[in-house]
Amino acid sequence: MDKDKGLSSQTDGAELLQPPASVLEIARRLIRAGHESWFVGGAVRDALLGHPNLDWDLATAATPPQVQRLFRRTVPVGIEFGTVGVLDDAGVMHEVTTFRRDVRTDGRHAVVEFGASLEEDLARRDFTINAIAYGPDSRELRDPFRGRGDLEHRLVRAVGVAADRMREDRLRALRAIRFAARFQFAIEAETWSAILESAPHLGRLSMERVQQEIEKTMVQVDRPGSAFRMWRDSGALAVLAPPLASLSDVALATLDRLPRARGTAQSQRTANRMTALFLELTPAVARATLRELRFSNDRMRWIGDFVERWHTVSPAMRDALLADTPPSDATVRRWVAAIGRTRVGAFLRVAEARFGAELDEETRAVFSRAMRSLYRRAWRVALRDPVETGDLALDGGDLMKAGIKAGPQLGAALRSLLDWVLEDPARNTHDQLLARARELAADQSHA
Ligand code: ATP
Ligand code: MG
Repeated sequence: MDKDKGLSSQTDGAELLQPPASVLEIARRLIRAGHESWFVGGAVRDALLGHPNLDWDLATAATPPQVQRLFRRTVPVGIEFGTVGVLDDAGVMHEVTTFRRDVRTDGRHAVVEFGASLEEDLARRDFTINAIAYGPDSRELRDPFRGRGDLEHRLVRAVGVAADRMREDRLRALRAIRFAARFQFAIEAETWSAILESAPHLGRLSMERVQQEIEKTMVQVDRPGSAFRMWRDSGALAVLAPPLASLSDVALATLDRLPRARGTAQSQRTANRMTALFLELTPAVARATLRELRFSNDRMRWIGDFVERWHTVSPAMRDALLADTPPSDATVRRWVAAIGRTRVGAFLRVAEARFGAELDEETRAVFSRAMRSLYRRAWRVALRDPVETGDLALDGGDLMKAGIKAGPQLGAALRSLLDWVLEDPARNTHDQLLARARELAADQSHA
């Protein structure tokens, strides 16, 4: 372990490390109480890269009970693994984890043991870029695996023997891909071989952990297409989500054209990206795959319904956007009705990304103008025009008075009236609809 070469001197990069005062205070209190404590993991890595990261995790020689005694407000977030959440003055939680070493691993879980040194703790971490420690008082960096060198060379490299590390925990294969895509790093050759070797074994992972990796990839990575390309090319998708095994390059490019969410108010963006993964499947297979991956029922339903509408609406929409004449108002209304008022924004965003990914540069410019115009028109329709049976200027009671029988005929009559109104929204008056309903009732009794 040569710590004095290039970027591995003990203080190189320390000036970039500026933990917020609230977490520094937590670290100092631990140190004052005699417990060796270091910042570790994602925040150290991100700070050295010049990226902000709010999660300044601490590793400490203190045991969980010692940490709990030292701070007034703590949360036992993962006591059995040594992690105590400590709340700072503002009530923000920071993770403080006791130094640990792995005693046993089975590709799914690790059994850990406390009483380890910082070096042992760093050695059980996944990648060199995640195994750098920063001591707040000495302003010293401990980087036994030369993570700073790999940051500089933009490499994701396993700590130690890659194949062994992946065998201990197969999730690391997916994590390597996520970090590589997130920072646009290459994956070091031996680490990539270990990922390829891991792919057939990924089925042993709990699907919840896999689902979280997908979610994190969508949230954290600017261009998730490169991540899912690696999921595909490594064989991970074939094992974890077989219907996605031959995900097209267009689907990957679509992902890259959809922005990621920044902050919780934009979680719709994550849903849009997720949807882009499933457009090439039938709705039934998309739903089954999402269920298999343990996505929430809400997510599964939302994406399943979206895919269903995608298959009915998008072919005609694509043709219309590439044609010389814009679609008629009635056509736009029918699309909005088929998509559903509340989904129009998401649908058009995904459509724009997907069609954009399919086209060459030149066609894309023409198409973008057509898309913007459609976006405005569809939005206006969604806000203003009747596009659901609930928007009709009469209800089921009126229909029964007009002579329509209760039961399935009622629903059919409402849909037929909506269809008539979509042709021309000026028809949506009580009197006109009632007259039309009487005609329908007469047809029904003839039938
Ligand atoms: P992010 O910004 O995505 O949170 P992170 O590096 O902080 O990135 P976490 O999942 O929060 O990632 O984990 C914190 C640290 O714990 C990592 O930096 C790494 O050192 C270690 N770690 C996490 N998961 C594993 C794993 N499966 N195997 C080994 N070490 C891990
Ligand atoms: Mg983290």
